[in-house]
Amino acid sequence: NSTFQYCDQLVADFERVIQTPIVGKSSVYYTGVDLGTAYIVLAVLDENYKPVAGAYRFASVVKDGMVVDYIGAIRIVRELKQELEEKLGVELIYAAAALPPGTDSLDSGTIKHVVQGAGFEITNVLDEPTAANAVLKIQDGAIVDIGGGTTGIAILKEGKVLYVADEPTGGTHFSLVISGAYKMNFDDADQYKRDFKNHKELLPVLRPVIEKVSSIISRHVSENPVKEIYLVGGTCCLEGIEAIIAKKTNLPTYKPKNPMFVTPLGIALNC
Ligand code: ATP
Repeated sequence: NSTFQYCDQLVADFERVIQTPIVGKSSVYYTGVDLGTAYIVLAVLDENYKPVAGAYRFASVVKDGMVVDYIGAIRIVRELKQELEEKLGVELIYAAAALPPGTDSLDSGTIKHVVQGAGFEITNVLDEPTAANAVLKIQDGAIVDIGGGTTGIAILKEGKVLYVADEPTGGTHFSLVISGAYKMNFDDADQYKRDFKNHKELLPVLRPVIEKVSSIISRHVSENPVKEIYLVGGTCCLEGIEAIIAKKTNLPTYKPKNPMFVTPLGIALNC
């Protein structure tokens, strides 16, 4: 899909620099900090907004868009920052962060304080769908971000975010379903889910929870009609999820090659 050309290239470059950072002579570095329910991701861009390094860590410091372990969040962001600084041989100064849609009143500056507490100078706190759309560059449609804890929905008209919502169903619930069905503990179920080899087998097991996510999307788009849905967020890595959502919502549903790192890269682009 040519819609995703820029996105697919950027994410592929990012995945490469997570493995092998690009050590160069940029005059400035921009870091995007994504504090999620499942992962904390740092994405570093150079002066030309090209990815040069990245790191992520599984963490339980955020629930439903709220920082529940403030000290833990600061510690992990600081450790990831130091790890990247050592690899790049520079100090990372500037960072931006994002909030799930509609949670700014709950946050009251916490995310900003985490990023500052980790030693960054914060340049911007934006909402997640605006961040994602800096990478997707969609004019009209719904961006649906299915992360670990929640599903975020943003309606775009002429490139601007018009309506946002965030509801508590996400990949964590997918893993709970697998845990129940396969009698596995949560971590094993989550790991089993992340293996692409298992997706075909898992799709029928996960269909009810995907249909629940679809009904959440339908409810929001019924008030704000759109012609298309664009999927981002780690849970959308699940192969076949787009077909079930398309069928249930009756809307063409598209996703980039790797929906996982779209938001962190968009945050860095807005640094
Ligand atoms: P939130 O946005 O809810 O705060 P987050 O930012 O941590 O959470 P993401 O990083 O977008 O969310 O996605 C995390 C979820 O994606 C987890 O539930 C994880 O198990 C799931 N996930 C990651 N990779 C895969 C994969 N290959 N297949 C299926 N699910 C995956």
